[in-house]
Amino acid sequence: MINPVTEELITSVEPVDATGVDTAVRAAATAFESWRQVSPGDRARLLRRFAAVVDAHVEELALLEVRNAGHTVGNARWEAGNVRDLLDYYAGAPERLCGRQIPVAGGVDVTFHEPLGVVGVIVPWNFPMPIAAWGFAPALAAGNTVIVKPAEATPLTALRLAELALEAGLPEGVLTVLPGHGEVTGHALVTHPGVRKICFTGSVEVGRQIMAACAADLTRVTLELGGKSSTLLFADADLDRAAAALPGAVFDNAGQDCCARSRLLIQREVYDDFLARLEPHVAAWRCGDPMDPATGMGPLITAEQRARVAGYVAGADVLMRGDAPAGAGFWHPATVLAARDPAERHWREEVFGPVLSVLPFDGEDEALRLANDTEYGLSGSIWTRDVGRALRLARGVEAGVLSVNSHSSVRYWTPFGGAKQSGLGRELGPDAPLAFTETKNVFISTE
Ligand code: NAD
Repeated sequence: MINPVTEELITSVEPVDATGVDTAVRAAATAFESWRQVSPGDRARLLRRFAAVVDAHVEELALLEVRNAGHTVGNARWEAGNVRDLLDYYAGAPERLCGRQIPVAGGVDVTFHEPLGVVGVIVPWNFPMPIAAWGFAPALAAGNTVIVKPAEATPLTALRLAELALEAGLPEGVLTVLPGHGEVTGHALVTHPGVRKICFTGSVEVGRQIMAACAADLTRVTLELGGKSSTLLFADADLDRAAAALPGAVFDNAGQDCCARSRLLIQREVYDDFLARLEPHVAAWRCGDPMDPATGMGPLITAEQRARVAGYVAGADVLMRGDAPAGAGFWHPATVLAARDPAERHWREEVFGPVLSVLPFDGEDEALRLANDTEYGLSGSIWTRDVGRALRLARGVEAGVLSVNSHSSVRYWTPFGGAKQSGLGRELGPDAPLAFTETKNVFISTE
């Protein structure tokens, strides 16, 4: 594992091979037989205890993530806190996973939400802790056992969370973390006949492969994939508020965020005015030491990722460029590019770096057409004071998660996921545990 700030080796982690995956799936299947029998109240208590143990280790987990992923310390504290909050929130689920009684002729009909069994959660490197917990917290609450496969570059916090689960009293085999390579460890997990569901977060390309592999055993699958999300900014919006909020929406986590608003559509009459208001906020978005509370973003995850991002900027029309440290570390400055036309690569493809592409539009119809002219459909923002327009566009933009006069995307109380090629299925929100169950219908004759 490399520290992306210093480029120094932190530690090495032994990858788990296909035999190791098989052993872990068998152990998780055995653990499932007992875990599903744990009473709802006891399962809830164990999840709350797990939340309390995570809470006691927020600082330790955050500092580990700063070293391993280069996240700013403020973000990393939020991420560890998010794991705690998810466990607390879904601790309410075991006792509320209610079936239905359905009126039928000739008897009584009831439904049950049965856990699936062993669930595999495959996680990318950009938010190693929260994305693991979006999968494991509701899956455990619904009575499943879980195996997490963290990304190659960032397994350390997931491994620590598995230790904390044991410390909290979760039985062995209920939550397991298997580090390793996608094509080996991940593939063995996806194709193992003992795994009943795969929750995958990552690239569209790998998502497609995983869905195809899941077809063999009809393994259930949820996909949270990439994005190329737009901000639609209208002339009647609060331009100062929008300008102050925008850098966080695209440069946070150095743009390595599936919900990054990497495209900005500005109504033509305020195009120059808005960019002038945005410029000081981009200049003030500091790139550097993640331990400094004034820092807006740290480095990119690897040298390859930095080279990829730089490839999009090379030859493009640069409107603004922030500062970045020189020397060791995978730094890339916050950058704003004018899209000369909507066919440009940086306008169309997911850059996954601190790069914002800007394009003017004239009317509502054109804004909607440009926003929807992508195979992605994850998130987006609409900035306007006109409530009717906000609602029209919120219904019209093809995306799973939208916000009006805000850039927020992920709240654990609400469903999250993508339309079109940004994914399949939803995570988070009150219904997430149901996605880890099979609905069983039982008819009892009264005749
Ligand atoms: P990736 O697809 O390369 O890898 C994701 C995970 O899949 C890793 O753990 C990897 O080891 C594993 N993997 C790779 N090949 C595999 C295979 N053949 N079988 C099983 N597992 C395999 O993605 P990444 O580069 O780590 O992450 C960046 C991508 O993730 C971006 O496209 C980003 O938009 C997306 N993402 C989406 C969301 C969301 O919720 N929609 C959130 C974060 C990141």
